[in-house]
Amino acid sequence: MLYPTRFDVIVVGGGHAGTEAALAAARAGANTLLLTHNIETLGQMSCNPSIGGIGKGHLVKEVDALGGAMAAATDEAGIQFRILNASKGPAVRATRAQADRLLYKQAIRSRLENQPGLTLFQQAVDDLTLEGDRVSGVVTQIGIRFEAAAVVLTAGTFLNGLVHVGLENFRAGRFGDPPSISLAQRLRELQLPVGRLKTGTPPRLDGRTIDFSVMEPQPGNDPVPVFSFLGSAAQHPRQVPCWITHTNARTHDIIRAGLDRSPMFTGVIEGVGPRYCPSIEDKIHRFAGKDSHQVFMEPEGLNTHEIYPQGVSTSLPFDVQLALVRSIRGLENVHILRPGYAIEYDYFDPRNLKASLETKSIAGLFFAGQINGTTGYEEAAAQGLLAGVNAARYCRELTPWCPRRDQAYLGVLADDLITRGVSEPYRMFTSRAEYRLSLREDNADLRLTEIGRELGLVDEVRWTAFCRKREAIAREVERLKATWVNPRLLPESEACRVLGKPMEREYRLFDLLRRPEVSYASLLTLPDAGVALEDAQVVEQVSIQAKYQGYIDRQQDEVEKALANETLALPVDLDYGEVRGLSIEVQQKLNQHRPETLGQASRIQGVTPAAISLLLVHLKRRL
Ligand code: FAD
Repeated sequence: MLYPTRFDVIVVGGGHAGTEAALAAARAGANTLLLTHNIETLGQMSCNPSIGGIGKGHLVKEVDALGGAMAAATDEAGIQFRILNASKGPAVRATRAQADRLLYKQAIRSRLENQPGLTLFQQAVDDLTLEGDRVSGVVTQIGIRFEAAAVVLTAGTFLNGLVHVGLENFRAGRFGDPPSISLAQRLRELQLPVGRLKTGTPPRLDGRTIDFSVMEPQPGNDPVPVFSFLGSAAQHPRQVPCWITHTNARTHDIIRAGLDRSPMFTGVIEGVGPRYCPSIEDKIHRFAGKDSHQVFMEPEGLNTHEIYPQGVSTSLPFDVQLALVRSIRGLENVHILRPGYAIEYDYFDPRNLKASLETKSIAGLFFAGQINGTTGYEEAAAQGLLAGVNAARYCRELTPWCPRRDQAYLGVLADDLITRGVSEPYRMFTSRAEYRLSLREDNADLRLTEIGRELGLVDEVRWTAFCRKREAIAREVERLKATWVNPRLLPESEACRVLGKPMEREYRLFDLLRRPEVSYASLLTLPDAGVALEDAQVVEQVSIQAKYQGYIDRQQDEVEKALANETLALPVDLDYGEVRGLSIEVQQKLNQHRPETLGQASRIQGVTPAAISLLLVHLKRRL
């Protein structure tokens, strides 16, 4: 039998974008091939072994709501779970988990191996094949040709990757992995607009040489949170604490003395690094007045002594790395298992992508993940899922799915990338979402699972569980709205206990729950209030709907007002030179970016609200 060489979708790269892309394409019905350098590194975490956090956790929950793998794999691999911003409003609450690196890879690989319609193959891709201006397949390092209508490129930090440790540098995709040179060359030949970015990672430490007794332990939350909407704490492996220590004045002196051999400070590195995840040398330089920085000691797994010291990412020479970590309390005798390093790599200006993540210039070619200028596993996974499902839809000539900014962080992410581009590695924050009251972690399934089902991404098990949950929420809200409590029929103490003061009139249970001081649990202790539901997810939704509905409704009104212009399509042949009153600068920007909708046009830097009004007038005239 011939080896299969023809597929609907080929995904290149088995990182966080590639694995979600391949799974999504296959779930959406495409015969999919995942090609990657090394099957052993499927789902590998290049940097810290943790998933989630503010904004990022929101993306993970959305990927989960659409049937993706990341949250479920984290539930199987997470060794410490926390809810960040637990005391703040639900919009900014976020789940974060420390993962066992090996368990995480196993969980991802098992999902890939068991996904119907997905073939795995270990090979580097060196070339893309084109027919006119459409992609038609790829060629691997040993010359095997694979054909497909759509190709999703998720090459991460590998394209022209250059690793730096002090003034030494060498080509690599990340430490220990080969770079992608031929493919990077090919993409440059195709005139795709390329830039250079940089990221870095700390040295890894041997836990047996660390004195944890002088550090502050940081336990996870109890009860232990869960990432996937279908997950349970029973799936989690053993939970372990992290520890906190600090840099000090001596650490900072050592770093300052080493800056003349820093690739960043001597100009050897040209790529821009992530502002929100700076190296320790960058922090010392930028916050010169600060004499101490926190360092989190995070276990890399349950069956290893390796520790990830979060907060001391560095590309200083190895001797400086050793001296700086040994100057930190508890690390005086530490052994470094792997040196820290920085990596520079090619990325492609995402303003040349459509909202579906298909490139504008080559039909059927999709980009997802770090290649688009983002940083982070979660951002990569979310883009992977989007590109994967849209590649599958492209093959069947279906319209792409482009989530809106008011529907999902995934919509915010894609829209930010394609309209604003990046000037530094892009990471997600809740502050990037203008409708964040509606885009919460807790309601990602209510926002997206039905859409996922229509797209073919959500299986029967998830769909049944979701429908049951949605019905339970609706039923309980209805019941609370229909149930009245009459203070005259209550012993005074009962009413006071719930409200904290005498109840003066009749209330519906739902209206009582609106009050900040009334919890669902306390409400349900009232006589005749009924039996409290046990499903924590349902109870959370009922409570949030009661407490925040007013604000959410107001936000929905804003969404509806904005939506009319947001989705107004801009004709592909629109000549911006013909729009009366538009400045030359705005014309150039619009001609360069070719936005697909008026909403996208409004978010391009330099395109003013006045310019949008002129465009609107012009479009109405054309109709
Ligand atoms: P990757 O995870 O890099 O995966 C790319 C995949 O493509 C790999 O499997 C690779 O083998 C494969 N591949 C590449 N080229 C080819 C080819 N030609 N043929 C076949 N397969 C190919 N993120 C943060 O959020 N914070 C940080 O502090 C941070 N620091 C980092 C430090 C370092 C040193 C590195 C390397 C990454 C860091 N990251 C950080 C980024 C994080 O690892 C990435 O954002 C994330 O892994 C991107 O996922 P991806 O799927 O796009 O790419």
